[in-house]
Amino acid sequence: MNSPQKKPMHATFSPTETEAGRLLFSQNCTFIMGAVSMDDMPATELSEVSFAGRSNVGKSSLINSLMGQKSLARTSNTPGRTQQINFFALHDKLMVTDLPGYGYARAPKKNVDQWTSLIFDYLRGRVALRRVCLLIDARHGLKPVDKEMMTLMDKAGASYQIVLTKCDKIKPDALVKLCNRTQTELAPHAAAHPDIFPTSSVKGSGIQELRAALATLADDDRLG
Ligand code: GDP
Repeated sequence: MNSPQKKPMHATFSPTETEAGRLLFSQNCTFIMGAVSMDDMPATELSEVSFAGRSNVGKSSLINSLMGQKSLARTSNTPGRTQQINFFALHDKLMVTDLPGYGYARAPKKNVDQWTSLIFDYLRGRVALRRVCLLIDARHGLKPVDKEMMTLMDKAGASYQIVLTKCDKIKPDALVKLCNRTQTELAPHAAAHPDIFPTSSVKGSGIQELRAALATLADDDRLG
């Protein structure tokens, strides 16, 4: 007999937490700057959350969906271009950073080394960083290059959570299996948060939950 299928352990949020998420992401979001080194990064006391993932994972689309804006974050990680960390402020509540995408197969080694050094410095040195959302394409699950990123975050002691993107592209039972498999793969990673957030920027699913989760990390979750 087949064993009963485990349900994914999606995080659930109370109506108050959901409302805090809605309020937080209805705040005005402004682009602050792009930084190519630690020295460039804005001095801030705001709590910070960051978005990371392979090129083309759907990071710009997800950030724009969360912010309720069409073109705040742009795919800017064309290989060979300057790789920078983009900083956005959600009013005076939360700093959001968009890390340059990784895993572009033909990226020159020099660029990969620069990327790794910038990201490691950022993860280890950014005092206000509360959580990294590691975006994973639901069609592919964790790839070796994502596991390298997880190891980098473990080493840097940066807390992270998995956000599945493009969940509209897979069937519900495949999503359940993916969540279960991903949870098993996360277990040995010290800095990984156990909750997995399935999302679709196209359908808008999971956006409310992710907003609620990030609102718990903002500076003032009473939000005025
Ligand atoms: P980035 O390079 O990680 O910033 O990725 P983008 O946000 O630019 O998205 C890469 C591609 O995936 C684009 O063609 C998007 O239209 C598509 N995409 C992004 N999010 C979704 C999603 O939730 N569902 C589907 N079906 N496609 C998506």
